[in-house]
Amino acid sequence: MRPKTRLQQEVFHLHKTCLSPAEEHKDFLIAKFDSFYTTHYKNFICLECNHLWKPQMDKWKEDIVGVSCPGCKKKLKYIKTESRGQVSRFVVGSIVETVGRFQVFRYISVWKSMDKDLKPDYTLHRLFEEWIDYDKGKSTIVGRIAGGYRDGFTYSDYEIRYVNKSAYWSRDDYYLYQADYICPGARYLPRFDFYDLNNKTLDADPRLLLRKLKDSPKFETILKSGNKKLLQHAINNTEYSTYFKQIKTSFRHKYKIADPGVWFDFLKLLTFFKKDIHNPVVIFPKNLRKAHDELVKKKAKVDALEAAKSELIRQEKERAKAEAEEALRGIKETAFKGFKIKNGEIVIIPLIKEQDVKKEGDILKHCVHTNGYHNKSGILLMSARLGEKRLETIEISLLNYSILQCRGLRNKPTPYHDQIIDVVRRNMSKISRLCQKHQELKKINSKLQTEAA
Ligand SMILES: [Zn+2]
Repeated sequence: MRPKTRLQQEVFHLHKTCLSPAEEHKDFLIAKFDSFYTTHYKNFICLECNHLWKPQMDKWKEDIVGVSCPGCKKKLKYIKTESRGQVSRFVVGSIVETVGRFQVFRYISVWKSMDKDLKPDYTLHRLFEEWIDYDKGKSTIVGRIAGGYRDGFTYSDYEIRYVNKSAYWSRDDYYLYQADYICPGARYLPRFDFYDLNNKTLDADPRLLLRKLKDSPKFETILKSGNKKLLQHAINNTEYSTYFKQIKTSFRHKYKIADPGVWFDFLKLLTFFKKDIHNPVVIFPKNLRKAHDELVKKKAKVDALEAAKSELIRQEKERAKAEAEEALRGIKETAFKGFKIKNGEIVIIPLIKEQDVKKEGDILKHCVHTNGYHNKSGILLMSARLGEKRLETIEISLLNYSILQCRGLRNKPTPYHDQIIDVVRRNMSKISRLCQKHQELKKINSKLQTEAA
């Protein structure tokens, strides 16, 4: 879209003239990639230096020990190549800059293309920019069209992009997009000086960081604490809010939360085991990893016990249900013994026995048997016939005496469809009387209903 408003023209002009080259941040993002190896028959190939070697042990053993390349000595992770020995990965960075009164967030991705015969190749893909004028409360997007390839953006030209901010902004592709890293040298407007964010590099998205700071005083406390790992965890998770009291206690006790993910998990486990999570001795173990793993083991035992218990209950329910259904079939047989509805040439008879239901389904090629309708509680199946010829199968609810379905060959209605329905409806009171005679049938039906519910 061509810049239309004065603001769009201003932003587009500044975009073309005032920004630092994105290439300056390429090396920073390149350093964020892992190094990989792949397999070729029984050999390993380093995708960094293309060295090929025969491993000493099976791959899974090597993976446990950790694979290092004998050629370049780099520590390697396994990656499966996708086509002709090639594979690629990308990371997204955000460059945070100020231009005059604008706060600018730029998004770039760097792609690492790996090949078993070539050294890795890195390419930069510029994605989009958001220009925010906080005083006027206006934001402008300049960038490529969203969608398309894996980093979420096409290769279209950089242009002003229209986004409907009134209704959809919070669900907009540009608004929701997040970087993995804030590039070095981040610059924020003086209005954010209070947070001391300038030059902070974080494995996080800067816009999300600001949104959280705006919405959560707890988050601000974490930022001020200077614990970078805790901050990073808090940007993408919500546990910091649940365990904020514990976090504050950790500040008071000068306990360094070195691995927030494990620590929050540990607190969750303590809560599960009803331990006092307000007691510093409990929540700040000397060896967090060990204390955590012990609780994980304990919890696994509890879970296994629970699973065994519910399996027993399930089996018991299954057995009771099978029993009740068997009884229901028997009672149906006596309740509807000899029962027939006649209308001119058409005769409608109950289908009780499993083999009769199956035969009906085979001949009419519908799903009455495979779907187990005959086993459903409170259901009576009937077959409408013209002499020996099967016309339609009727499914009747014995709970409210209504016709649930009525289907002919391949689920299609026959010319007799309306007539059959009409006749069955007129005979519904007979069916209900037969059922009522057999109180036991009702009793079992209701038992099944409660179990099903
Ligand atoms: Zn190597």
